[in-house]
Amino acid sequence: MLILNTKLQIQEALEKSWSHKDNIGFIPTMGYLHEGHLTLVRESKIKDELVVVSIFVNPAQFNQNDDYTNYPKSIEKDIEMLKSEGVDILYIPEMEDFYPNSVPNIKMQLPGMMDHLCGATRPGHFDGVLLVLSKFFHIIKPNNCYMGLKDFQQFKIVKRFAEILNFPIDIIGIETVREVDGLAMSSRNARLSIKEREAANLIQRSLKLGEKLINEGERDLLSLKEIISDVIKSSSLLKIDYLEIVDPDTLVPITSMQNQILIATAVFVGSVRLIDNILIDMGKG
Ligand code: AMP
Repeated sequence: MLILNTKLQIQEALEKSWSHKDNIGFIPTMGYLHEGHLTLVRESKIKDELVVVSIFVNPAQFNQNDDYTNYPKSIEKDIEMLKSEGVDILYIPEMEDFYPNSVPNIKMQLPGMMDHLCGATRPGHFDGVLLVLSKFFHIIKPNNCYMGLKDFQQFKIVKRFAEILNFPIDIIGIETVREVDGLAMSSRNARLSIKEREAANLIQRSLKLGEKLINEGERDLLSLKEIISDVIKSSSLLKIDYLEIVDPDTLVPITSMQNQILIATAVFVGSVRLIDNILIDMGKG
């Protein structure tokens, strides 16, 4: 596995693959890798001739400085994990090379899609995500980019953005990988105390209860939201940042039942903010 740090190194390493039109798969991450990330890598190993992973804690997408500075790191372990998955190139950008001078404060708006969920509660977050991905897409020129559906809004926004700006890249969404008790795997889980870790599984349990109630005939979205939030609020360690039921295509909140709905939530577990969602498709099954 090649470990590269600058744009020039990437260009030198990929030039041949570009001219041979090899299929390049790209998995952007912030490190502290877990099975969720590795599932994305494995999908790329199946589909692509060359697999590129990036590890970069991108300052542009953090709206809370302590979340940025406390973001967990385990670079040596990450390298070993990626080597054993057969990754070809690991790109760990040098800050100066990636953002010469300073981190640009570019605004990239997609009205509607960015107005709710994390777009509402983390101002500037998606501007930073789209900035870093645009740069990665230009530097790496991948054919496929793999993203987790745990970050459903991110996946949808990036897919739309790539279409609008004509990036010739397929943005591929991968199902959320979970711990045994259902908690969505996240690098931030490492920051939970034992008690917080136990309480955190209420997030997925509340969403699963929502799904069950719908399957049993519940159609009142307001009362559904109340029941789900009551489950989360049953632990004093959890605090809801948002809980919304949205249209999975537009990501705009809905008030009446439709064929497909997405229930999405962000919850503070102590000081750690976790997100999760469930997609319910009434047309299925
Ligand atoms: P992160 O390192 O948190 O920025 O995540 C990098 C990529 O891995 C993003 O596309 C995430 O959506 C994806 N990812 C994170 N956690 C999971 C998970 N539990 N299951 C599947 N994909 C995930």
